[in-house]
Amino acid sequence: CGIVGYIGHRDAYPVIIKGLSRLEYRGYDSAGLAIFDGEKINLCKTKGKVADLVEKSDDTIKVGTTGIGHTRWATHGVPNDVNSHPHFSNSGELVIIHNGIIENYDSLKQELIKRGYTFKSDTDTEVLVNLIEDVQKTQGVKLGKAVQIALNQVIGAYAIAVMDIKKPNEIIAARLGSPLAIGIGENEYFITSDASPFIEYTNNAIYLEDEEMAIIRLHKPLRIRKIKDDSLIDHYAQELQL
Ligand code: GLU
Repeated sequence: CGIVGYIGHRDAYPVIIKGLSRLEYRGYDSAGLAIFDGEKINLCKTKGKVADLVEKSDDTIKVGTTGIGHTRWATHGVPNDVNSHPHFSNSGELVIIHNGIIENYDSLKQELIKRGYTFKSDTDTEVLVNLIEDVQKTQGVKLGKAVQIALNQVIGAYAIAVMDIKKPNEIIAARLGSPLAIGIGENEYFITSDASPFIEYTNNAIYLEDEEMAIIRLHKPLRIRKIKDDSLIDHYAQELQL
């Protein structure tokens, strides 16, 4: 239900935890986060409140400057630790947070099961992250392209943020029907459900429109594309001061 991603020079853990607390008003039943520590992506998630997540956090999860966090309002699968976000792909290389509903998740899931994928959770979200992985592996495309191809097979509503262990300085975000803002600081980006998690860090922000995706890379300008076709979006150019 709430999304907070961070890529920059600060420790991601406090930025994400504080951001998730600011989004608590949206309502939720579970919370979690994944942070890239320079070598691997560590994960901590739990049924309950952001305070429970803090309680469960050990020192490992606090290392790193790239990460994604989530508060979940369960739609597919009961509220429990396993169904909480983030969700890893089968290889453990991709990790996702998702607000919304993948309506055709069952047929996508059956197809992935036939192809050898297994699932730990009952969520629609875990189907999406494995679909992205399958596209990456079978089509040999980069993360951004794989997300785009996968989303074109999805019926439903979403705001997502995805990280790939192979791309430690990159987060892909996309939206259809759920809000997503990107705060643009100096050598840092915030990917959030609304601006409240980043107002103390930057005044510069854009709001993705439906069917848009952002390729967010450290020390690089934001790249925003249509999900349905490959056109680059320039209606943010002024806000981005490009
Ligand atoms: N459909 C997803 C789930 O049940 C995401 C729910 C949400 O928006 O938090 O896990």
